[in-house]
Amino acid sequence: MSDVSPKLAHLPPDQYLAAVRAGMRCHDHETNARLVRREIASGAKLAGWQCATCGKWSAVDRAAVRNFESLPLYDERVRDAFWYAELEQRRSEGEAELEEKRRQYSAYLQSDKWRRKRAAVLDRDSNKCQACLVRTATEVHHTSYRHIYDEPLFELVAICRECHEKITEMDNDYWGRIYGRSAQ
Ligand SMILES: [Zn+2]
Ligand SMILES: [Zn+2]
Repeated sequence: MSDVSPKLAHLPPDQYLAAVRAGMRCHDHETNARLVRREIASGAKLAGWQCATCGKWSAVDRAAVRNFESLPLYDERVRDAFWYAELEQRRSEGEAELEEKRRQYSAYLQSDKWRRKRAAVLDRDSNKCQACLVRTATEVHHTSYRHIYDEPLFELVAICRECHEKITEMDNDYWGRIYGRSAQ
């Protein structure tokens, strides 16, 4: 009876089982649960509800179950498959979000707004690379992505291709993967 809420224990078996099932509050799966039996490592035989969608388990008092031996077995593959699918979905949503940010940024680099900024920065820095102060700058580098799309010009510097590539490699973090390299 250790898993059983004392508030439920006095109910008739059918109501008791239904109450435990309702208490699972299992994602959006409502009552897609079935009564199963499960043998754990200690050898104890347990009865409980298992959500057939996500595999969630909720134990019940075995005394409330009439046909224990004929119950289907708890299936942990359901749970594993569900969480694996969830993980996959989150991963692909993350990819889609990244892709959308890249698309937005690449559109920005085609805009007149960016072209004007880029020209002003190259002009301010006299077309000299601000990383090496040797080569002619042909590109513009973001020193920060904090104000991206509305960056003040002090966050932009003129840079040569060679230095830009080196810095992009060093900045190969989340933002670097989105905004790096393409700011030309
Ligand atoms: Zn579920
Ligand atoms: Zn340089």
